[in-house]
Amino acid sequence: MKLPCCVPCLRLVLGLVVMGATLGFSGGGGAWAAKGGEPLAERIRVSSFSSILTEIAQRVGEGVVVVSGHVPPGVDPHEFEPNPGVLRTVASADLVLLSAKHMEGYVGKLKESAGGKARVVEVGGQLPSLWMRDGTQTMGRDAFEDPHWWHSVPNVQRAVKVVREQFVALQPQSAGFFLENSNRYLSELEDLQRWVRGRVAELPRNQRKLVTSHDALQYFAKEYGFSVYAVEGLTPSEQPSSRKVAALLDVIRAQRVKAVFAQDTVNPKVLREMTSETGAVLGGRLWVDGLGTGDAATYAGMIRSNVNAIVEALK
Ligand SMILES: [Zn+2]
Repeated sequence: MKLPCCVPCLRLVLGLVVMGATLGFSGGGGAWAAKGGEPLAERIRVSSFSSILTEIAQRVGEGVVVVSGHVPPGVDPHEFEPNPGVLRTVASADLVLLSAKHMEGYVGKLKESAGGKARVVEVGGQLPSLWMRDGTQTMGRDAFEDPHWWHSVPNVQRAVKVVREQFVALQPQSAGFFLENSNRYLSELEDLQRWVRGRVAELPRNQRKLVTSHDALQYFAKEYGFSVYAVEGLTPSEQPSSRKVAALLDVIRAQRVKAVFAQDTVNPKVLREMTSETGAVLGGRLWVDGLGTGDAATYAGMIRSNVNAIVEALK
């Protein structure tokens, strides 16, 4: 199932669409456990359909797992469809990690390919949910469950524990190793959460207003005390109605919003109109659909890049 919101947010991610690409990542460290140098029975083969979960699996399972990240940075997770090569990798996997919350409309195909052999784990399904909004109306639960759960650091900490449990179930003899890896990662995430809270605290509460083209930052907004004002339909094929644009302009003026954040670099006309008519500026790039590139190529880097862009623009 494809969510309409997410066509725009993808274009932000450098416009790189490498459909069907599969990048292999090795957990590194060899097939020997770090502690004591005991050889491990066999590496756990993981197929990940989220760049965030790929990082989590690599960090928690470092040295013990081999992770195939099928949706690398630059690939739209909403538009992604597994090709036969990806399905073959899934068929030989021990564990399949999914973002869930309706992100992967092809989950049935994956389960079929896994043939009951691999564990297919819908990680996002074990995390709290928010729902997409249309204007001020909360939409129905199922189709509009907001899939962008990783924009709240505590959600990623929860996801780390979900992945660790799966690794332990698959290879109980390495439980201590997974615990050590995940504790190190969780403590880095704790530092990150503290950093985000400190950085956001530089913005007075009444300046924490995110005007974006869609609701991809609801989890971020809820966790860090922002309000989101989203206009849907900012795509070349689907122009926003003049009523929607007018309503957004009213919000920007009335709330004295200093910047708007584009997730669609393809349609600058409407954004230019929004900024030129209100005096708001176009804020920096936000990575909304997964990991980015350069400094944003890690989860912590992506969050820091987004938070810095938001705080700098709204100050
Ligand atoms: Zn999205």
